[in-house]
Amino acid sequence: MSMQKPKSDKLTLNKLQKRLRREVGRAIADFNMIEDGDKIMCCLSGGKDSYTLLDILLNLQQHAPISFSIVAVNLDQKQPGFPEEVLPNYLNSLNIDYLIVEEDTYSIVKDKIPEGKTTCALCSRLRRGILYSTAKKLGATKIALGHHRDDIIETLLLNMFYGGKMKAMPAKLVSDDGQHMVIRPLAYSREKDIIKYAGLKNFPIIPCNLCGSQENLQRKQMKALLNQWDRQFPGRIESMFRATQNIVPSHMVDTSLFDFQSLTTQDQPFPDGDQAFDPPSLDYQAATDENTDTEEQPSMVKLISL
Ligand code: SF4
Repeated sequence: MSMQKPKSDKLTLNKLQKRLRREVGRAIADFNMIEDGDKIMCCLSGGKDSYTLLDILLNLQQHAPISFSIVAVNLDQKQPGFPEEVLPNYLNSLNIDYLIVEEDTYSIVKDKIPEGKTTCALCSRLRRGILYSTAKKLGATKIALGHHRDDIIETLLLNMFYGGKMKAMPAKLVSDDGQHMVIRPLAYSREKDIIKYAGLKNFPIIPCNLCGSQENLQRKQMKALLNQWDRQFPGRIESMFRATQNIVPSHMVDTSLFDFQSLTTQDQPFPDGDQAFDPPSLDYQAATDENTDTEEQPSMVKLISL
């Protein structure tokens, strides 16, 4: 017997769904992620992010002014204890197209990587290759992954702290072999909304530690740092994310992005000119305003009508 949700949970769920749909719609429109006739292969790991992604894409599909199809794909990597029936049961209940690909990458990884060493790099490489060939077999035109805004910021910090690069995670990219378009429609969505949404929707989550490997320790540290900042300084993560959308090459020190060599003075005002003598006029309010929910329909959403 299914338990009735309390009224307040229903309201929260509706509000969250509306927000996620709006953010995904905006990301799709901003990056031209989905076009008429696309076949989207939605990768489903059994975690909260990919369940949310599939749920929101299916929801948008019903209201979109364009026609696209969705096929859910799970890669069963034969990790010990993987509950094989969970995803097929869930996907059958949705009555949608899906494919479970069975490949024992677990044994390959265990065989190749010495005990105690981290297995994630090889595991992800193998998984990526299998997903690309599956997309090809299915004739999928886009591969959708469930990474969200917090993954993007964590990656930015990791690359800055350990990689010496100002590089985050792309919302849309072409695979290294040039053949696949990968999209991340949750790029504008907050992890804490996704956690809450997945809980309220009762998605049958499959734990992600079945392989016995530790999640990347440095990424864990970045997540902890961001969570701490979020509690101490509300709006900081929003501001950091907005920074990835507002890069000013002339105020960085990358000579390949801005031609400092040919910089000359001119008679008219120079839009990127230095204002070092002026006090900084940062619009802190704007960053925190982004955080508040609004009932307004965003004018930027051209592709998906909500
Ligand atoms: S945690 Fe396990 S399943 Fe996930 S990438 Fe690492 S080795 Fe693979």
